[in-house]
Amino acid sequence: AAKRAGGSGYRVYEPGMAGDGGEQVRLQHDLRLALARGELMLHYQPKVSTGGGGVHGLEALLRWRHPQRGLVSPAQFVPLAERFGLINAIGQWVIEEACAQLARWKAEGLHCRVAVNLSPYQLRQPDLPAQIAQALRHHGLQPADLVCEITESAMMEQGSAEQAVMQRIAALGVRLSIDDFGTGYSSLAHLRHIPARQLKIDRSFVVDLAKDPDARAVLDAVVRLAHALRMEVVAEGVETEAQRVVLAALGCDILQGYLIARPMPPDQLARWLAERSAEAARAAPLALGEN
Ligand code: C2E
Ligand code: MG
Ligand code: MG
Ligand code: MG
Repeated sequence: AAKRAGGSGYRVYEPGMAGDGGEQVRLQHDLRLALARGELMLHYQPKVSTGGGGVHGLEALLRWRHPQRGLVSPAQFVPLAERFGLINAIGQWVIEEACAQLARWKAEGLHCRVAVNLSPYQLRQPDLPAQIAQALRHHGLQPADLVCEITESAMMEQGSAEQAVMQRIAALGVRLSIDDFGTGYSSLAHLRHIPARQLKIDRSFVVDLAKDPDARAVLDAVVRLAHALRMEVVAEGVETEAQRVVLAALGCDILQGYLIARPMPPDQLARWLAERSAEAARAAPLALGEN
């Protein structure tokens, strides 16, 4: 059993011990093998424009299909990968896989951007911009096809080396997106030094929107500031029609959330897109110039 040091609740870590620690060790071991065994995959969640509902982009979200545990959440294994030095290899695979998938979709006539989530640890690799450029070239993609999402706290708390890596990614023509905005404690003034084109408002603000006038006031200010800085604004975690209506009224550009679609494996996403464009064609046959 775990040893406790006094009453502090501090647990002495021993490899293979029962309880949470042993569990983490087993997961870490399995995660080291997951890439090689092909257990990692990407699901894709659409971002749609608030006005016309057109598909603005897709966000790639990492999934781990564990042979015994089933699907493990990235909220659980990404922090493990960061702690155990696996995140760079996994992150590199994500970039490569997302580019490969986008190239396949483009070949099928689907034109869309794809966003990948970057861990702050990845920004410590000076050759990350070169890796990204290489993946784009290898799959015949343009820099504007790719978006890199980095959380607000990760973006603002970087040292100058990591800032330089972000600047070089932006200089390639790849868009940077500030993820989970509102959860960090960054000074708003700092925003103007960040080379980001997109700001994603964290789900926690969206949740309170329909019922809390203060949440609405904060969002109103954030949307105005982002627009003044020429950034597009995405609301994440949109689940209800009431939220959608308020976000549209506030001038939020792009919506993402279960109301529109859940993250889906690539084949399911392709069907979703096809159904959606068929619906659009039924709704507005003249717009397509068919008649
Ligand atoms: P995130 O980038 O902020 O992604 C949004 C999360 O919210 C996703 O969870 C998504 O499935 C979920 N979500 C989307 N719409 C809704 C909604 O309407 N309601 C609710 N309740 N949730 C919604 P997921 O896929 O479990 O990912 C969790 C986090 O794990 C991500 O947050 C991101 O920080 C991290 N992550 C995922 N994929 C990667 C990756 O490839 N690399 C890195 N470094 N981190 C990743
Ligand atoms: Mg994200
Ligand atoms: Mg987010
Ligand atoms: Mg989030």
